[in-house]
Amino acid sequence: MKIAVIGSGGREHALAWKLSQSRHTEKLYAVPGNPGMADIAECVSGIDIEDNDAIVKFAKDKEIDLVVIGPEVPLTNGVVDALSAEGIKAFGPTGKAAELEGSKVYAKLVMKRYGIPTARYEVFGDAGRARVYVRQMRQPFAIKADGLAAGKGVILTKDADEAVAAIDTIMTDKAFGEAGSRVVIEEFMQGEEASVLAFTDGKTIVPMVPSQDHKAVYDGDKGPNTGGMGTYAPAPVITPDIMDRVKKEILEPMVEAMNKEGRPYKGCLYAGLMITDKGPKVVEFNARFGDPETQVVLPLLKSDLVEVMLACIDGTLDKTPIEWSDGAAVCVVMASGGYPRSYEKGKEITGLDAAKADGDIVFHAGTKNVDGKIVTNGGRVLGVVGQAENIKAAVDKAYEGVKKISFDKEYHRTDIAHRALERL
Ligand code: ATP
Repeated sequence: MKIAVIGSGGREHALAWKLSQSRHTEKLYAVPGNPGMADIAECVSGIDIEDNDAIVKFAKDKEIDLVVIGPEVPLTNGVVDALSAEGIKAFGPTGKAAELEGSKVYAKLVMKRYGIPTARYEVFGDAGRARVYVRQMRQPFAIKADGLAAGKGVILTKDADEAVAAIDTIMTDKAFGEAGSRVVIEEFMQGEEASVLAFTDGKTIVPMVPSQDHKAVYDGDKGPNTGGMGTYAPAPVITPDIMDRVKKEILEPMVEAMNKEGRPYKGCLYAGLMITDKGPKVVEFNARFGDPETQVVLPLLKSDLVEVMLACIDGTLDKTPIEWSDGAAVCVVMASGGYPRSYEKGKEITGLDAAKADGDIVFHAGTKNVDGKIVTNGGRVLGVVGQAENIKAAVDKAYEGVKKISFDKEYHRTDIAHRALERL
């Protein structure tokens, strides 16, 4: 089969890496891809991935059999609808189903309507009313822009003044543009966060190995939030009992809810969870694989990813056995010093060949090939993954890999998977 992966980050590199191992893959494209993916796929530049027509044209020209979409914007733009209309198989939800991620107001409404556990909330389209509300209610809050804001549209506030400032940032100053026309003001949930991604064909749901992200930039989960500084799987906070509840109380009712809403959901459903003392509650749904969760979940998938994806599209997931490895995987993100604030680009990266020669898994996220040299080109540069029989060994392996690679002002957290290690 000819397969195309849409996107250019670490998540897409992990998807391409796993797809390249399939016995069905004859030719792999990455649009636009990155220098790491160039080893396993033909990277195609010059196509705007937010332009559905351009993606459809590319898929038709190259006679692609399966298109796998990484990021959320093409999904909410309805690229899966556009490809399907031309008879091209595409992995991911339709534009209407992807609204579960594209609009937090919509996601909360569906959860409320179908009794899916999540934080209590109110929605405001008027900044004045929102300000009055936060002055009256018990703090703290999570204040969220309704629409997509590249993972930056959530502000956690401790008191009324902070809450008012957050409302002003989102609604008055329009820091996230039209995404902030409405805000969701949520009760702040206490607990430990974890992610459960699931494959679904709209009927059958197969949860993947649970994982945990480290959003804060510094060790000890301190400092400002980032796109994710590292991940590990499985996350022991999701005990078998909790996983059972996630399936029965969250994933199954959500997929059923989307059917009832007339927006059947197929693809990867990502549940961001807070494990509270009352059980798992939804922080957010994403309509795609997580980044950097995918980098640790897919190495643990023993089954053929192409077969699993085709089963999601064709509605045959119930007949497709999915197997997971018993071990663990840990991803340490190597970032540009200064990230998530300002940082420099263009630093030469050394040691990639040594890591590759040792069989280390290194997913590229923000890199660029300049005259044959790989240089930094983003905040999160690389994700180094250690896979081993248990978390401790996987942590050691990931950090061994990190040691081999360097670039000027490189920064990484040194405590990835600390919660899992503390539980041992
Ligand atoms: P991303 O796509 O990067 O995961 P997002 O912008 O879609 O983020 P959310 O996941 O909804 O935003 O929130 C970002 C973070 O804020 C969460 O991972 C969590 O740490 C925190 N958060 C959000 N809502 C709540 C809540 N109700 N209570 C406590 N913490 C929350």
